[in-house]
Amino acid sequence: MPRPTTLSVDLAALSHNAAVTRRFAGNSKILASVKANAYGHGIIPCSEVLSQSVDGFAVAFCEEAVGLRQHNIALPLLVLEGPFDRADVEAIKEHDLMMTLHSHHQIDLLEKAGYQYTTPLWIKVDTGMHRLGFSPAEAPQVIKRLRQLGADSMILMSHYADGENPSSTVTLNQQQAWQALTASMASESSVANSAAIINTLATPTDWVRPGIMLYGAQHTDKGTAKSLTPVMSFKSAVMALRQVPEGETVGYGGRWRATRDSLIATVPVGYGDGYPRGAEDGTPVWIQDGRFPLVGRVSMDMITVDVTDFPNCQLDTPVELWGKNLPVNEVARHCGTIGYELLTRLTGRVPMRFSD
Ligand SMILES: *Cc1c(COP(=O)(O)O)cnc(C)c1O
Repeated sequence: MPRPTTLSVDLAALSHNAAVTRRFAGNSKILASVKANAYGHGIIPCSEVLSQSVDGFAVAFCEEAVGLRQHNIALPLLVLEGPFDRADVEAIKEHDLMMTLHSHHQIDLLEKAGYQYTTPLWIKVDTGMHRLGFSPAEAPQVIKRLRQLGADSMILMSHYADGENPSSTVTLNQQQAWQALTASMASESSVANSAAIINTLATPTDWVRPGIMLYGAQHTDKGTAKSLTPVMSFKSAVMALRQVPEGETVGYGGRWRATRDSLIATVPVGYGDGYPRGAEDGTPVWIQDGRFPLVGRVSMDMITVDVTDFPNCQLDTPVELWGKNLPVNEVARHCGTIGYELLTRLTGRVPMRFSD
């Protein structure tokens, strides 16, 4: 039998989540974020499935978008970081991509290339994230400059820094800046990622930009978000079981010491697969049908789990590192990170299986 560590991607769950997202989105069009290999879920199969239920896709940079076009994804595609250089500008033209423009140096690139862009240009406005974009005060001049270059369709966009917290000061300030901006300009608009969609910070906009909620790993399971389902299940099985006497340690550096005679299950998955080495003792691992604590440091190829309270644990008993039984965000909280990072950092050596 081969190593049992696999990634299962449930494409039916992805379609289901897209349908739930459609209910959240109201009359807004949906631009599905499939950057970073669809958050680790496989960009091509996921985009093919989503093509039936969304209005377009967002990726981070040009190469990601060109890959989609080469696989015959025909829906509108937005390059969120816009062009880095002249070659990007040409690829955007050749593959009929939409681009975000966040700085004058990008508009200089367009000016030098001298193309007429028929796809809408997305203008990134910095309402408080302070990472990319033009200030709200600059926006009217940017639009004017683009009109002079022959652009006719423009979409104002911004991004929430703290959409998970609808009443934080950062969010309230951004909301205010966004409302002032869009009230004063007639352009189409787009502001909401998943957290902002779920927290209804979107106000009516032309486009919403969900990512993590499509994969069922959104920040909350409350309310309507309850019906979103995890798409990825990261699975393995027990490869060895051993009795470890009280007082002995397990794993590199002897981080964990048995306080009773213990039964330890070894599972063939490690940081070489993308399971985080930062996982602390007590990180939950789903074995058969319950949670058991990870004990000892994560190795490159293996982890160790305390199954003393599951004396019937066997070789080949199924294990889920995260997925339908164990939310990735719950695991992430024990690893000093967020679900997004765990999903996107899986390595190529884990075989992927798609089901629909
Ligand atoms: C990644 C991204 C999104 C999607 O964010 P989620 O939190 O995954 O919903 C939306 N907008 C921008 C600008 C992004 O970079």
